[in-house]
Amino acid sequence: MITEEILSTLHSFWGERSVIASYVGGEFVQGHGETVEIRNAHDDTPLLSYPDADESLVELANNAAKSAQAQWSAMTAQARGRLMYQIGALIRKESESLALIEALTGNKPIRDALVEVAKVAEMFEYYAGWADKLHGEVIPVPTSHLNYVRYEPLGTVLQITPWNAPIFTCGWQIAPAIAAGNAVILKPSELTPVSSLMVAVLIERAGIPKGLVNVIAGYGHTIGQALIAKADIRKVVFVGSPATGRHIATACAQRCIPCVLELGGKSANIVFEDANLEFALRGAQAAIFSGSGQSCVSGSRLLVQESIFERFTEALAKAAKNFKVGDPSDTETQIGPINNAKQYAHVRNMVEGALRDGATLVGQDVTPLPDVPGYYVHPTVLAGNNAMYCAQEEIFGPVVVAIPFKDEEDAIRIANDSRFGLAGGVWTRDVGRAHRVAAQVRAGTFWINGYKTIHVSSPFGGYGESGYGRSSGLDALREYSEVKSVWVETAAQPAASFGYGASLE
Ligand code: NAD
Repeated sequence: MITEEILSTLHSFWGERSVIASYVGGEFVQGHGETVEIRNAHDDTPLLSYPDADESLVELANNAAKSAQAQWSAMTAQARGRLMYQIGALIRKESESLALIEALTGNKPIRDALVEVAKVAEMFEYYAGWADKLHGEVIPVPTSHLNYVRYEPLGTVLQITPWNAPIFTCGWQIAPAIAAGNAVILKPSELTPVSSLMVAVLIERAGIPKGLVNVIAGYGHTIGQALIAKADIRKVVFVGSPATGRHIATACAQRCIPCVLELGGKSANIVFEDANLEFALRGAQAAIFSGSGQSCVSGSRLLVQESIFERFTEALAKAAKNFKVGDPSDTETQIGPINNAKQYAHVRNMVEGALRDGATLVGQDVTPLPDVPGYYVHPTVLAGNNAMYCAQEEIFGPVVVAIPFKDEEDAIRIANDSRFGLAGGVWTRDVGRAHRVAAQVRAGTFWINGYKTIHVSSPFGGYGESGYGRSSGLDALREYSEVKSVWVETAAQPAASFGYGASLE
């Protein structure tokens, strides 16, 4: 089943289809597994359902990807770049329906969804430019050889993505993978497959070979696992929770194939007493409340210097009362619901647990939430210490844990007292301190007097249990390439004779 609103948007996008199915080799192929049911996070009513992909799709996707990759890599790099640029143009043209679907099926406030869709277009445009610039290198080796390095496609890569930013993550991973010459099998979260299916359709409309990008709609423990175990996959790029990431890494190790893990975080946003506190206050809100806190880089630990702790956290709690929380398809909405019932229960349990553990409630938005039985959580500011469970585990909701610190050394110590290392930020007017802190906090992304800006041109990834490998920028192209070193003997007399004689008489 699909609600009328989603159905009419999809009909105008891809015609009179009424079921959600996987997109393989340029065709929609329905699975035959158990039914995946998705509920509307706004009012807890049924939203859509579809059959889980079954194992017959593994072979189909495998073959489609292989033959498309052969065609794709036979094209000139310039032609590939032109087609990728066209994908960006089509995404811009369809941005309203893509954003509406992201709001309706991904529970993302539509104003955030529009921004993310524009970023996805930019990702394809950015990597379109790279398609003919991924050239090799010549290494000045100390022998008589010409030694050059080739960057070659891996072949087919599997991408597994989460529910919190479905279209963003889809573009973020597909664009560099195909720019480097690969075919893709993408398995989005079973909860949010629709926008990724739409992107796959647009990729084909741009003129990319059918089957170069395949999207499999279904559960991770069924089809996700089957793809890793059976498909002819050369690398897995996983974006999701640390627990699943461990499982993926183990499955890849069994097959001796590499993986990239983009996992969770518990990032420290550090505010010193000398900061521009108005800017820091705005930054602290963006860090934790945007996307309802369902963002891997959320500034979910707010470290505030003791001298301003009370004043700053109370101001943050007051600011949190002014948000427009509500229906994601309403253009005024700033904070939407939690994406799904399981995550909603997790966020509420984490807040209750934090209060039981001795955290104090500095403040919470008390304006009534939408009068519907949806998965809404009030933006919440807690105060506690770094040893608490709520300061060590991902809440992944609009809930920040504020922690006081004494001085620079103390701030760095607390920031690094975490098994994660995805991101962090510092607010200070002392330029030397800003750089010292940026250098010493163990995190893959760090902001000075800002928070949450990322761009496709800059590398992104984690330290520690936030994962390994990098997405975005040139680093992502390298992740999606094999590196080959080629040695050409140029000497009149071969040097590599190893003392052997060579008489052909
Ligand atoms: P999740 O780990 O539950 O699911 C992620 C994906 O893995 C889904 O597609 C799911 O179907 C699949 N999956 C689950 N079990 C599997 C299995 N056994 N085999 C193969 N695939 C399997 O994560 P989630 O709840 O969807 O997303 C939230 C998490 O993602 C948070 O921890 C968040 O921090 C993280 N995240 C990280 C980044 C990053 O770039 N570091 C970005 C966004 C989200």
